[in-house]
Amino acid sequence: MTMDLEYTPQSAEDSRPFNPIRDTRKNVEINIGKVCNNKCVFCLDGFPKGDENTFMPWEEMQVELKRWYNDGVLSLGFLGGEPTTYPHIIESVKLAKDLGYSRIVIATNANRLRHKKFTDKILEAGLSRVTISMHGHTPELEDKLTRVPGNFEKKCKAIRYLLEKRKEGYLKDGVSVNVVLNGWNAPHQLKMQKFFFDELGLDDLRYNFIRPEGFAEGSTDLTPNYDDISPQLMKCVVLNEFHYQKTFTFGGVPMCKLPKDFVSRESMLRKYMGEYRDLSTYCSIKSDGIGFGVEAVDEGRGRFNWQERKRFDLKAHPPSCEQCAVASICEGVWKGYLDIYGPMGFEPLQRLPEGDAVQAAF
Ligand code: SF4
Repeated sequence: MTMDLEYTPQSAEDSRPFNPIRDTRKNVEINIGKVCNNKCVFCLDGFPKGDENTFMPWEEMQVELKRWYNDGVLSLGFLGGEPTTYPHIIESVKLAKDLGYSRIVIATNANRLRHKKFTDKILEAGLSRVTISMHGHTPELEDKLTRVPGNFEKKCKAIRYLLEKRKEGYLKDGVSVNVVLNGWNAPHQLKMQKFFFDELGLDDLRYNFIRPEGFAEGSTDLTPNYDDISPQLMKCVVLNEFHYQKTFTFGGVPMCKLPKDFVSRESMLRKYMGEYRDLSTYCSIKSDGIGFGVEAVDEGRGRFNWQERKRFDLKAHPPSCEQCAVASICEGVWKGYLDIYGPMGFEPLQRLPEGDAVQAAF
């Protein structure tokens, strides 16, 4: 199939692919610390110890919330570790709401959200969206991946309650499940989609390809080959297109690993590829003063743009990308993936004319 689409960046300063329906609000994700009540097998943080096992001081949180809001950021996310373990999470959401943030999100394993009292409080404080990390459609798979017995039931209970509250008018920005697509759950992509959409009644589901670092570094067991996951991923897209018609997106899969009849239709990319849809996201994390790559460190916080971090620090472009017409918008491939599978097998999606190699993107 010949492709003659022009893949344009969002703007001169923003290398994300252009999408007219993208939410243009700037987003910041504030990391509250690495403390967590799960033990996921692919965790990037491992088991934090000593000083790592502490929360962001409340005074620092207040400064950070004001700083980003004053910079024109209207969307805010709380990250961890597990943000619901943060002793000041309700106050933080409340302060964000009072400051004027219009979208307030937590990325959570949802264990604590099964307690109605806690959920009611955080919703009253102004939480407008919950993204739940859940990685399996059965107790066996979920509990094995998160290494907490009973986790599946706890998460299902939390999701059902959140959806109930949404019907009452809370959570205007939605409830989603974010799955880390890995070697153990990738064979069940269709069953997971059916479970989350049909059985739990969600209308927003995201599959993010595993970043092979932390516990998953070097693991071929946990890190599937793109070529093996792509056919079933595309079946999920087709099912969504013709049956579910809900929000289904995926991230972390390079365009050259997707079928040509899919990537040649930009309307499909805009609808299904996370990289086409995600908000421009900044991150604020605790830092010991030694940042790396695009990170800037100041007053104990490391700050960076997440899309730039992925492109310039965490991912790489194999040599063949130099001839690829989409290299200017493609973030490349997780370095951890290249460590496992090597740089071969990435064929330029649309080959540039001889002598027009892309250099600037890398
Ligand atoms: S830039 Fe590289 S990784 Fe991205 S689509 Fe092109 S060949 Fe694939």
